[in-house]
Amino acid sequence: MKERFEIDSNSNVLFVTSQCNNHCIMCCQPPQKDDDFNFCFNQNIKLIKSAPKETKVVCITGGEPTLAGDSFIELVSLVRKELPLTDIHVLSNGRAFSDNEFVHKLKVAGEDKVFIGVPLHSDFFRDHDIISGAKGAFNETMLGIYNLANEGILIELRIVINKLNYYRLPQLAKYIFKNLYFVSWVAFMGMEDTGWASKNAETIWVEPIDYASQLCRAVKELDDWDIPVAIYNIPLCLLPTEYHRFATRSISDWKTRYLDICNDCSVRFECCGLFGTSMRNYQGLKAI
Ligand code: SF4
Repeated sequence: MKERFEIDSNSNVLFVTSQCNNHCIMCCQPPQKDDDFNFCFNQNIKLIKSAPKETKVVCITGGEPTLAGDSFIELVSLVRKELPLTDIHVLSNGRAFSDNEFVHKLKVAGEDKVFIGVPLHSDFFRDHDIISGAKGAFNETMLGIYNLANEGILIELRIVINKLNYYRLPQLAKYIFKNLYFVSWVAFMGMEDTGWASKNAETIWVEPIDYASQLCRAVKELDDWDIPVAIYNIPLCLLPTEYHRFATRSISDWKTRYLDICNDCSVRFECCGLFGTSMRNYQGLKAI
C-alpha cells in the first residue's frame, strides 16, 4: 500500500481490514483474522488528510471493507469532506448492502461520488456460493445490488473468470441483461495467480486462450444490449482484434509487468500487460 496518494494513479488505496466474510476460492489476498480495524482506520485518516486535493480516485478495499460498519461510512464521509473532487471506488462482496439502512447511510455519506464494484461469480446461486466460499452469499449479494440501485448508487459488476464459471459466461450475460440491466458496467476479469488462486490452481485455473470464445460471446451479448462492458487483466494478444476495444489497462500501476516480447509489440501502450505478482505467465502471448 502506498504511503501517499498520487493524483493520477489507479492504485490509491484505503485498506480497511484484512478480514472477510467470504472465502473466495481464487482470493489473491486471503483474509486474516487479526483485529486490524483501528490500526487501518488511523492509517487511512492520515492518508486522506495528506492526499492531493486533485486526486482522481481512491479505492476503499480489504478484506471486506463493509465489515468495519459505521467506521466504513465514516471513512467515506471523510473522503468527501477532505477530497470533494475525488471519486470513491468501493470493492465489496456486496453482502452488507442487503441491509437497506446501511445502504442509505452510504448514499448520504458518499453522495454521487461513490461507486461499488461487486463480484458476481455466476447466474447459478450454487456456483456463486461455492466460488465465494459462503453459503447464502448469492442471495445476499443480489439483494445488496438491488438496494444499491434503489439508492441510485453506481454499480460495477466484476466477474473473475475461472474454471468453475467460464462455461456459463454467456448465460451469465443473459441473466445480467434480464435482471441487472441497470448496472453501470460489467467487467470480465482475468485471474491473478497468487494467494488462494495458486493454492487451488488445479480446481480453478483456466487459460484465457481456453475461455476466450465464451468470454467474447458474453461480451457481445451485453454489448448488443447496450450494457457497457469491459475486459480487465487480459493482454490484447489473447483477444480477437475486434474485442480489443473492450479491454482496458486495468492492472494497478505498481503490479503491471511486461515481457521482453512486449518491447516489439505495436499495442504495448494500450495493453494491460501481466500481473507482476502472478506465479505464471498466460499461455499464447505474442507480439502484435
Ligand atoms: S505481447 Fe505484451 S504488450 Fe503485446 S499484447 Fe501481448 S502482453 Fe500485451
